[in-house]
Amino acid sequence: MKQQVKKSYVSETVARLKPSGIRRFFDLASSMEGVISLGVGEPDFVTSWNIREASILSLEQGYTSYTANAGLLELRQEIAAYLMRKFRVEYNPETEILVTVGASEALDLAMRAIINPGDEVIVVQPSFVAYEPLVTLAGGTPVLVETHGDDHFKLRPEHIEQVITERTKALIICSPNNPTGTVLQKEELEAIGRIVKKYDLLVVADEIYAELTYDDEYTSVAAVDGMWERTILISGFSKGFAMTGWRLGFAAAPKEILQAMLKIHQYAMMCAPTMVQYGALEALRSGEQDVEYMRKSYRRRRNYFVQSLNEIGLHCHMPGGAFYAFPSIQSTGLTSEQFAERLLIEEKVAVVPGSVFGSSGEGYIRCSYASSLEQLQEAIKRMKRFLERL
Ligand code: PMP
Repeated sequence: MKQQVKKSYVSETVARLKPSGIRRFFDLASSMEGVISLGVGEPDFVTSWNIREASILSLEQGYTSYTANAGLLELRQEIAAYLMRKFRVEYNPETEILVTVGASEALDLAMRAIINPGDEVIVVQPSFVAYEPLVTLAGGTPVLVETHGDDHFKLRPEHIEQVITERTKALIICSPNNPTGTVLQKEELEAIGRIVKKYDLLVVADEIYAELTYDDEYTSVAAVDGMWERTILISGFSKGFAMTGWRLGFAAAPKEILQAMLKIHQYAMMCAPTMVQYGALEALRSGEQDVEYMRKSYRRRRNYFVQSLNEIGLHCHMPGGAFYAFPSIQSTGLTSEQFAERLLIEEKVAVVPGSVFGSSGEGYIRCSYASSLEQLQEAIKRMKRFLERL
């Protein structure tokens, strides 16, 4: 028989963490029938067959042992070539690239490798929900900085400068951003870079959506003048290559930082799964055409969806990347939680309230347009009906 214990064995830090706000809506939506989900942040494409086949083949060939802790050297070489080809940034595959279990693990390692107790890390809001808890779990203090809808949620140098103290260690930049889809242009990154250099900070650059930009040429933070030395570049296969369930990502950083991340990774993870690494190798060698196909398809859906949102009265700026629209719902007078909950219950369309991404996300909702055009059309029809009834 189980005995009742009086004290909690859970650490105070973990006990204080808030559960992810997105989860509650997923649970509610999955308990209902006929729901159109614009809630999840993942591609609706199945991973290309040649990638799946390469992974299966590696199993058939019996490649079932651990790889090097940092990942298959062949894969790190392909990642280095890819980063050079795509973003003109140079990394040594032997010492400056680490293959991880998703970008998620790379983010966790980055925080744990750089934070001393009490160090401050600037987290831009609205942002991906994991940053703040990861900083806290690594013993740091997240310092929140708000960006605003009327400026397309752009991160500006003055936002950063306002919160810098002598404890500020790093800044997390996510471009294209989840949930806003905002992409920072080269000159905007250069302006941020000047502050970063002035105060001697590090940047953790989450570039997981870099493959999914639709309008302008993409600039990696690491490619900005003088920033390579102070950037931990994080990316992965989940979004661009439609490989969320494979759990594969990578980090690229100057040797000292990368080796510190590797030290944690080799104790906590040993290495990323071997057959998954073989799939990723194939993705980099022959995936470009499929990525291009998916990019074009998201672009079409983005254009349709964002235009339709504006037509039905939800003001939405045109996001330059990722697969999220982040329209304002302020004209309805509802909070983003109320809007999302009522839209789900009354019209069976699942979206995520902007408030889960930080306080300046209030007044907005996140809609993923990684759904078929038919589904998006039906969602717009239902949202229009919902708005007319309000
Ligand atoms: N960063 C951002 C901004 C994301 O949106 C996500 C996934 N939702 C991740 C990182 C995690 O990606 P992965 O699947 O590679 O762990």
